[in-house]
Amino acid sequence: MIDRDRLGALLRRERAAFADRNPRSAAEYARAGHLFGRVPMTWMNKNAAGFPLYLATARGATLTDVDGHEYVDLCLGDTAAMAGHAPAPVAAAVQARFADGACAMLPTPDAAWVGEELTRRFGVSEWSFALSATDANRWAIRLLRAVTGRPKILFNSYCYHGSVDESLIVTGGDGPRSRDGNVGAPCDVTLTSRVAEFNDLEGLARELAHGDVAAVVMEPALTNIGIVLPEPGYLDGVRELTRRHGTYLVNDETHTFSAGPGGATRRWGLRPDVVTIGKAIGGGIPAAAYGISREIAERAAGMRDLDLVDMGGVGGTLAGNALSVAAARATLEHVLTDEAFARMEALAVRFADGVQRVIDAHALPWSVSRLGARVEYRFANPAPRTGTESAANADPDLEDYLHVYLANRGILLTPFHNMALMSPDTTAQQVDLHETVFEAAVSELQRA
Ligand code: PMP
Repeated sequence: MIDRDRLGALLRRERAAFADRNPRSAAEYARAGHLFGRVPMTWMNKNAAGFPLYLATARGATLTDVDGHEYVDLCLGDTAAMAGHAPAPVAAAVQARFADGACAMLPTPDAAWVGEELTRRFGVSEWSFALSATDANRWAIRLLRAVTGRPKILFNSYCYHGSVDESLIVTGGDGPRSRDGNVGAPCDVTLTSRVAEFNDLEGLARELAHGDVAAVVMEPALTNIGIVLPEPGYLDGVRELTRRHGTYLVNDETHTFSAGPGGATRRWGLRPDVVTIGKAIGGGIPAAAYGISREIAERAAGMRDLDLVDMGGVGGTLAGNALSVAAARATLEHVLTDEAFARMEALAVRFADGVQRVIDAHALPWSVSRLGARVEYRFANPAPRTGTESAANADPDLEDYLHVYLANRGILLTPFHNMALMSPDTTAQQVDLHETVFEAAVSELQRA
């Protein structure tokens, strides 16, 4: 059991130490009065210490802040830097491309290479680009509504697919409802969406039986409410049910890409109709993509009344720009390779084993889940089976304490998560340092 008074005192102590250690970051934050919420984007106020660290440099899996501290970066931009920060092949490709122009509204040969490579990795046959995973999902959703003529999209409760309006739905005792805090919803979310629990085929079948669901958009494992892994048979069941009900299946591989070179889709032999992906494929430059089956491409192309070219809702002047696509090519060709994933996964196993050792040594009721190069621990054992179960086990104070404690000793975890990701540059020493500091954080908490 966690002693809540002790936790509160330790959290206050660590926050005070953070403030003392980081005067320059504090001053930058204090003077950013013309930024909404004092930050470049309001989610940057999600930090355990009261103000964010300000970045100086990030290379490989090491980051420095403006106060001169060095960190082992296990956050890696919440997957945007899974390739490591500033990987040399991407830096070279981006510099060369930018010197010759980036945004000309004309294709470059890199795009066809990237499309072919994404098909080799993820199976689906035709690709289009976006600059964020949110936008890749948004466009996939529009397209699938158009070709099916059905109004609704189904999501798993406590999923996250970016700021996609349709996805902000959760199950609830009184039926489906909007996620708490949903900012400016355009309409009642139940008009556009249906929801099921992850790992619940009965619930999914019940929702799909309405016959109005264009697509199920899902992560093959939930990664934004801890990692919730699929139970045996669940993903096969999803595929079978979606086929039976004429509903398309979209795998959002933005985070589950950690499972391997072709994400969870290839690792687990999945057969989605659509794959969406963002963040890591650009190696640090905004890039995202959505791939569709030939059948969907042909259906869409055959619909003469769809405006796929001008103002019909197809968007993104900068989508597929030469710089973004050059970055994606360099990342996939030279950095996030099959060999790199093997190394990253071995480190993730080492990381997870270390966390488990600490949990066991202190007999904590916590669990560790791993998806390839990605590891997350949750304050529940056994590991939650659904998003709702996982949400119910959140402990914001405990999470903040561990985050600040680690940050004060040179280790960054992902805000919003207890997540650690391995890059091709992460080292065993970095992973072991985490275990030592994590053990110390837990020991202090447990001390009588
Ligand atoms: N899909 C998934 C699975 C994600 O985790 C996220 C962001 N965490 C997104 C989409 C949205 O990515 P972005 O914010 O880069 O648009």
